[in-house]
Amino acid sequence: MIIRKAAAGAALVLIVSVCAVAQPSGPNGMPTVIEVPAAARASANFDPVAATNAYLAQIPADKTARSDAYFEGGYWLMLWDFVCGVVVAVLLLNTRWSAKMRALAERVTRFKPLQTWLYWIEYLIVTSVLSFPLTVYEGFLREHKYGLSTQTFGTWMGDQLKNLAVGLVLSGLIVTMLFGVVRRLPNTWWIWGAGVSYLFMVLVVLISPVYIVPIFFKVTPLNDPKVVAPILSLARENGIPAKNVYTINESRESTRMSANVSGFANTMRITLNDNLLRRGSPEEIQAVMGHEMGHYVLNHIYKSLTFFVIVITVAFAFLRWSLEWTLARWGEQWQIRGIGDTAVLPLALLLVNILGFVATPILNTYERTQEYEADMYGLNTSRQPDGFAQGAIHLGEYRKMSPGPIEEWIFFDHPSGRNRIYAAMRWKAENLSLFTAPQTGVEKPASILTGEAAKK
Ligand SMILES: [Zn+2]
Repeated sequence: MIIRKAAAGAALVLIVSVCAVAQPSGPNGMPTVIEVPAAARASANFDPVAATNAYLAQIPADKTARSDAYFEGGYWLMLWDFVCGVVVAVLLLNTRWSAKMRALAERVTRFKPLQTWLYWIEYLIVTSVLSFPLTVYEGFLREHKYGLSTQTFGTWMGDQLKNLAVGLVLSGLIVTMLFGVVRRLPNTWWIWGAGVSYLFMVLVVLISPVYIVPIFFKVTPLNDPKVVAPILSLARENGIPAKNVYTINESRESTRMSANVSGFANTMRITLNDNLLRRGSPEEIQAVMGHEMGHYVLNHIYKSLTFFVIVITVAFAFLRWSLEWTLARWGEQWQIRGIGDTAVLPLALLLVNILGFVATPILNTYERTQEYEADMYGLNTSRQPDGFAQGAIHLGEYRKMSPGPIEEWIFFDHPSGRNRIYAAMRWKAENLSLFTAPQTGVEKPASILTGEAAKK
């Protein structure tokens, strides 16, 4: 019943949303800096601050205003997402919909794991429908307004349904396992639950390039030696055992540029998205690849997996304490029988949501610190400070270039554009001889000098 109602609701919201997609979409393209600005060229009085300002001055004021508006709008969206999550959870609990959804699942089957899965399906569909207007605004309308999306409503909606299907299977699996743990180990469930969640997270990280990414994108090997040869050379220089370079068609979804170095042993691969390939200069691509190789060589994946042991354990300890506290007060009113009752799920997810909201600056700072390390590594290995500055400007299409320090600490999961350009210019200042030395007699003239030579 509830599922059928939910489906009807989804169809209705869908029709309303299709009518609302009349908003004009405008490009938000940041400039491609064809020439290194005068103040950023190597000279006896090279000043990193002046060089940084010269790069930032290449961005027209209206582009900066647009990029700031997009990124600052994201701060509010964090709040609205949080508020929406709280409202939906309180609604499901207070109206006892959650208890009714559990009762429905129990009527369908006596088999406990299947009851949990059925409840999860009901929950996911109901919450997806309730938050659908916000999802459409955030994922489709707003992205089009700022010229970042390349999708029609139909393809976007198709992706949403694929997401829902992945959520029904993968999240359904972990939710079912966790309730199994809680029912079997009512006293120590939070420790075992943390362990199971952690292993599940590692598994998803491992399988997603092979099984999840292809659901949404096509990954193909790159053959153009002009692009591939310098990247593989950089990889060999850094001891990265990659033999092929791949490209992923992320332009089907957005105009954002990205790349990554992933996998281990035989699955080791370097991937550039097609936006970077199309818009990035050779120097910029080298700078970006140097950064990605930095993540790999500095073992950021393994460090993050270790960091998440702590994060997940803290989350489960908090969950154990806060669930007991809330259930003692309102459990009866919400008709929740205890922590092992699937009807508790909206409450559990609400509590995790609150913790995650409060911990946002800590998680962002952890990530931003790694990104900064990868930036330093990338500059040292690619030796392309100007390509790096160009990359930072392109990424400014969806990230505010010059935030305040507290703003950056709270909201930024990567260093801001200004700080990244400054780091590149500081690196250039410390290595000026590479850019002023005559071509003859320099050990690696071509790759070192292209940063400027190619652009002049
Ligand atoms: Zn990175």
